Amino acid sequence: MLYTVQLSQVKTLPTPTMIIDITVQSSKPPWNIFAPTWEMVKDFKGGRISENQYTEQYMNLMRTRYKDNKEVFQQVIQIAMTGDVALACYCPPEAFCHRHLLKNIFMSIEPRLQYQREVIPPQSEQIALF
Ligand SMILES: [Zn+2]
Repeated sequence: MLYTVQLSQVKTLPTPTMIIDITVQSSKPPWNIFAPTWEMVKDFKGGRISENQYTEQYMNLMRTRYKDNKEVFQQVIQIAMTGDVALACYCPPEAFCHRHLLKNIFMSIEPRLQYQREVIPPQSEQIALF
């Protein structure tokens, strides 16, 4: 099963689920190939590029990274086919986030993949963020 998750919510996933941090800030090799670039993140947060532009840049980046690292993509797919793996980022579940774009990429590489939708945490937890 393939999951997406907010890093602060990984405890809500079944154990054992392999957590793959795909953030530019804290991802580790070999999984850091799934992270965007700092430039993209800064441009997006600074309002210099739109969600659509970010999506386009991320998809182009992943096409390049896939060509060079097919085995890393396949490794994630293999784990998701036989066990549980989650693509994790800091963004809340309802936010625009590259983990959803990456999930779609995996689903198009391997259409037999099963994806478990993210649970939106109760309202009180979201309010507590502010
Ligand atoms: Zn994110």
